[in-house]
Amino acid sequence: MPQKTRTTAIVTGAARGIGAAIAMALARQGHDLALVDLDESATGATVDAVRALGVRAIGIGADVADAGSVEAAINHVANTLGPPTILVNNAGILRDNLLFRMSEPDWDEVMAVHLRGAFLMTRAVQRYQVERRWGRIVNLSSTSALGNRGQGNYAAAKAGLQGFTKTLAIELGPFGVTANAIAPGFIATDMLRTTAQRVGMSFEEFLDAAATEIPARRTGTPDDVAAAAAFFTSDDAAFVNGQVLYVAGGPKG
Ligand code: NAP
Repeated sequence: MPQKTRTTAIVTGAARGIGAAIAMALARQGHDLALVDLDESATGATVDAVRALGVRAIGIGADVADAGSVEAAINHVANTLGPPTILVNNAGILRDNLLFRMSEPDWDEVMAVHLRGAFLMTRAVQRYQVERRWGRIVNLSSTSALGNRGQGNYAAAKAGLQGFTKTLAIELGPFGVTANAIAPGFIATDMLRTTAQRVGMSFEEFLDAAATEIPARRTGTPDDVAAAAAFFTSDDAAFVNGQVLYVAGGPKG
């Protein structure tokens, strides 16, 4: 079904990887796009690719974990592209370590970007959604929410995002706003290049080894995740609220 509602969408961490693919998918649905990432210049290529699809797009440099930065970014989006009523909280970082080696900054930085970031962004955007009586929020969780060695911080944050999502669904549902989470499994992006380096494997070896563990016998692509985001943000998904969809080539990654 073609998308009836055309609006302004914000995707965080949109310079590359999954966020860039989600931005492209939302542009194909006809939405204007604000691409938020730490470094505005890093969004340039994705902004150009999104504009080539015939919608308006801007890149914004902002740290989602910083309240002032988030407020300024959301005001800029509203003034430039119009009220944002789609929000995809995708920005993320890894600071993997076994518990006995995990430092306080490792813990705090992961909580700040994933949890505080999603909280600040959503709190800033919900006023436009509530005013319009229409909105879509998509949070990026992970199969790591189910537990993953070396990721005590990340697993806790990604499980926390699931609870946050369900609460948003309850609080904002009466205003025509849905909130859902995507929990990707192993998706081939730069984020996992650093993990491959850490375990002393080439990226290709790392992908091949992961694929043998996945029922679909392949690793995921950013477009696999973007397809789920396109569904959750569509008009057709109006009655799908508070769900967690594992996009992992199997029941979990
Ligand atoms: P990625 O390639 O590392 O991209 C993440 C983007 O977020 C980067 O452009 C990064 O900017 C940006 N970012 C980091 N901290 C930020 C902040 N404080 N404010 C604004 N932007 C920030 O990661 P990805 O693999 O596409 O992952 C996207 C999301 O999916 C993350 O939430 C991740 O946890 C989740 N996920 C990924 C996988 C996977 O297998 N790849 C699996 C499950 C879930 P810099 O480049 O400047 O750091």
